Amino acid sequence: MAADSFPEIRQSVRRLCADFPGPYWQEKDRNRAYPTEFVTALTAAGFLSVLIPEVYGGAGLGLAAATAILEEIHHSGGNGGACHAQMYVMGTLLKHGSAAQKAAWLPGIASGALRLQAFGVTEPTSGTDTSSIRTFARRDGDYYIVSGQKIWISRAEHSDLMVLLVRTTARAEVARPGDGMSVLLVDLRDAVGNGLTIRPVRTMLNHATTELFFDDLRVPAANLIGVEGQGFRYILDGMNAERVLIAAECIGDGRFFIDRAAAYAADRNVFGRAIGANQGVQFPIARAHVQLAAAALMVDHATALFDAGVRCGTEANMAKLLASEASWFAADMCVQTHGGFGFAEAYDIERKFRETRLYQVAPVSTNLILSHVATHVLKLPKSF
Ligand SMILES: Cc1cc2nc3c(=O)[nH]c(=O)nc-3n(C[C@H](O)[C@H](O)[C@H](O)COP(=O)(O)OP(=O)(O)OC[C@H]3O[C@@H](n4cnc5c(N)ncnc54)[C@H](O)[C@@H]3O)c2cc1C
Repeated sequence: MAADSFPEIRQSVRRLCADFPGPYWQEKDRNRAYPTEFVTALTAAGFLSVLIPEVYGGAGLGLAAATAILEEIHHSGGNGGACHAQMYVMGTLLKHGSAAQKAAWLPGIASGALRLQAFGVTEPTSGTDTSSIRTFARRDGDYYIVSGQKIWISRAEHSDLMVLLVRTTARAEVARPGDGMSVLLVDLRDAVGNGLTIRPVRTMLNHATTELFFDDLRVPAANLIGVEGQGFRYILDGMNAERVLIAAECIGDGRFFIDRAAAYAADRNVFGRAIGANQGVQFPIARAHVQLAAAALMVDHATALFDAGVRCGTEANMAKLLASEASWFAADMCVQTHGGFGFAEAYDIERKFRETRLYQVAPVSTNLILSHVATHVLKLPKSF
């Protein structure tokens, strides 16, 4: 996005990130440790509550401010993946929760006293086909009894609350595949050890992701968000914000790679001159810049639509696709520009390379975006 938007916010995020330089992230990455100090500092500075209305204690800013924050974190070499969900997962509660639920939860989320940064949708057997999830919540008096399994649920061990998508009516019994799903707000502090088991999954990047096992977990019926059976629609609603924010992280990553590559190419001398004097080295850097600038415009466009309250599913998807591909091109270029040093932990490039690769798969994979564009925008026949 426009690198000059929200100059004051950007400057203070940059200042905060300067306290968390490469060696901090390298140590966390090496040990797959959660960056608690960084998340605490961001929370204290109020950066994670910018999307929460002022009446609940947040800053009441739009998505544009949130994108500026995440872009700066990633541009600095850091990673917002440890806490970005604290910004947007509450959107489901804000948009579809009752007045009593919002009053009960949002002020704590805004202050950071309550962490709502787990979002449980994906299951091992359903994959991207969310309507075939099997985790089931059976109503029993004032409770739902939840059984099933989720995978890739990030930050569950570092969250007090989780927005959970479950089936409340079997798929075979509903008219449309997306019907019969519901959203529950699960209090993880009560749930763990009482019907919920969390198992960490070690991945190629430090993302605190986990597998969840539900074995007759009791969730108060009062924690149902919105209307039973309508949950899939609520989750889809929230996904646009997530896609735009992830796209902003990709733009930040891309800027990190391009800055690093340009500086290194100007400085590194081989065969008696700067490697950046060779067009074979400088053109990929320039191409990465061009691609990233175009992707940033699309991110800006999707953000502006979102903030104006206009439907933006297609634009959010396209922004995420373009930004994730632009950051990946920049990542690959940056490794190549650095030669052997691109592989050295101390340069942060190999870590950021691994981190930015995720965004072509999660939160939605490139093929699924192309399928959306092909069938919804171009009206081609549906493949599923
Ligand atoms: C580190 C990490 C963190 C994550 N965090 C969360 C989280 O916090 N909460 C959560 O709910 N989920 C989370 N996810 C899950 C993520 O959203 C999914 O991995 C992603 O949506 C892809 O789904 P899948 O892995 O089931 O792939 P699948 O659906 O099994 O697809 C595998 C591949 O096949 C392709 N494919 C599938 N169907 C088609 C088709 N019809 N046409 C063309 N191509 C197709 C896909 O594009 C993909 O490339 C996370 C994943 C990772 C890796």
